Amino acid sequence: MPMGIQRRAAACLAILACFLPVCRAAQPPITAIVGATIVRPDRDGADAIAANTTVILEGGRIRAVGPAGATPVPAHAKVIDGKGKWVIPGLIDSHVHFFQSGNLYTRPDVADFNRWMPYGKEVARNKARLAATFKVWLASGVTSVVDVGGPFWNFEVRDAAAKSAAAPRVHVAGPLISMIDRVKLDLGDPPIIRISSPDEARALVRRELARKPDLIKVWYIHQPGDDLAAQEAIVRATADEAHKAGVRLAVHATELLVAKSALRAGADFLVHSVEDEPVDAEFLALAKRNKALYCPTLFVTAGYRLALSNTWKPTQAERERADPQILAAMHDLDRIPKEMIPERVARLMAKPPAVKPSEVSLKNLRTVWDAGIPVAMGTDAGNIGTLHGPSIFREMEWMTQAGLTPLQVLRSATVGGAQAMGMSREIGTVEAGKLADLVILDADPLADVANVSRIHRVIKAGRVFVPETLMRSITP
Ligand SMILES: [Zn+2]
Repeated sequence: MPMGIQRRAAACLAILACFLPVCRAAQPPITAIVGATIVRPDRDGADAIAANTTVILEGGRIRAVGPAGATPVPAHAKVIDGKGKWVIPGLIDSHVHFFQSGNLYTRPDVADFNRWMPYGKEVARNKARLAATFKVWLASGVTSVVDVGGPFWNFEVRDAAAKSAAAPRVHVAGPLISMIDRVKLDLGDPPIIRISSPDEARALVRRELARKPDLIKVWYIHQPGDDLAAQEAIVRATADEAHKAGVRLAVHATELLVAKSALRAGADFLVHSVEDEPVDAEFLALAKRNKALYCPTLFVTAGYRLALSNTWKPTQAERERADPQILAAMHDLDRIPKEMIPERVARLMAKPPAVKPSEVSLKNLRTVWDAGIPVAMGTDAGNIGTLHGPSIFREMEWMTQAGLTPLQVLRSATVGGAQAMGMSREIGTVEAGKLADLVILDADPLADVANVSRIHRVIKAGRVFVPETLMRSITP
């Protein structure tokens, strides 16, 4: 053995000899956030804020939370200086879709760009791009997401997230049990499956239950002339079959009539606002009876309008935290030949619509909140114009336009999200014993909800991530 190598080998052995016993004796890694202001969205008033607090994380969980002076930091802990920082529970988006990317090509049933970009290519891209999609969620402070419906492939998304070093917790529903067909989305594993009887609904639920879904989802589309009672029977059979297996039912129902029908049939989770008229006492009573969750998704329709009229512009947070591939494609209408642009898109481009939150949806959010019905923040990310990750900041800003305070919006994005995940005992608050899912902020989120985007660190199951490093690790 040449001298150099010999010496190096000896040095290596010496290092091993030094460190092995230490390693063997070492405790599991401990992180201490020292002297931060903790925001507790589960509480009200002064109780929602705890200044100069230390949080100790160990083994993927929060071990202790207490006043900095009275909470000892273990000698071998990795210390994060919390002075001038705010700590909130990890954010939860209760309504996303991984089979969609947010770009123009992701919903050919709404805007058909197949002649320019075959839908098969778009879906293949989304599958290949999962690792990056997981990272933009984490970089946006989101440590859990609920995918409320997609192809059977969704179950693989959940597995992939569970195995990834850098991914949020992912809960999923399988294909939507739907009142209508969406043939353009069917490449062999359709996200939406038309059901025409209660028996068919039960059969599809059973197929999905075999994959252990976190939720079953109904796409309750009621069109003029449809028999509401017959549709309600399908939803009731779906609810019954899901509930027998201990699985909750999520329903897309955007009109008051349909939302009430969904609740009568057993819905546990309304994944959109009631958009057509003010909710009434009957709606509120039904929602309370079911202990139903309400997810407003205020921005998503605006996202479509902006993107398809070619007036979509990224926010600062989107410039920094969205998938660069998707950002780069948001203005493809500038280069798609005119003859390949669908007619309805051409019409939108010729006369871009004014875009603001729906007054009825804002009013309903306020009413539902004041009635004490739990609200879960959700973006419907993946739809055209609503990008995975940083679109949560648009959604939270719009929720404040309903009159919710930043603390209330944060509650919906943490405590409410934990309910949507069915994990209230494990996530959603900064408390000893819970999973260590946290976000450290550089600015006060209660002064302005936009400050939630000023992320210093994201912590999932005790693992600390730097958003900029996550973003740099994404290939363009
Ligand atoms: Zn959706």
